[in-house]
Amino acid sequence: MSLEDNIDHLLINQHLFWSRITSEDLEKCWSWDGNLAPTGYGRVYLKPSSGGPFQSILAHRYSWIIHFGPITSGLYICHSCNNRSCTNPLHLFEGTASDNFKDMHAKGRGISNPPIDYWKGKFHTEETRLRMSEVQLERRERERLERLEKQ
Ligand SMILES: [Zn+2]
Repeated sequence: MSLEDNIDHLLINQHLFWSRITSEDLEKCWSWDGNLAPTGYGRVYLKPSSGGPFQSILAHRYSWIIHFGPITSGLYICHSCNNRSCTNPLHLFEGTASDNFKDMHAKGRGISNPPIDYWKGKFHTEETRLRMSEVQLERRERERLERLEKQ
């Protein structure tokens, strides 16, 4: 399973994402205060849940997954602000490869631009963040117990 497919793992480790966000002002770009790929995109390193060496996931894709859920297969996460290091979920949209290469000044020109609360609500307070992690951990634990019962 690739890092991006393991949504629970990404949600549980989302502190790695939030620790590199200096501002959560939804009106502005969230410039990435961490490692940048040569392409200018932010990068998050984490170990896969199965163990093994660190792998990387692009920060704006991580942001999308945290806020909106899984990325539609075959689509890109594009920036309406043209700032590749930006991870503000409101500046991201799913688009095709050609959308990704176009000059994107207008917001919402992509295929989908879901409302911010689509995946997990307004998620920008410490309290909500903690609660979200709890929910994910509870779910994991429940799934683990269910697996044990089946054995
Ligand atoms: Zn931006």
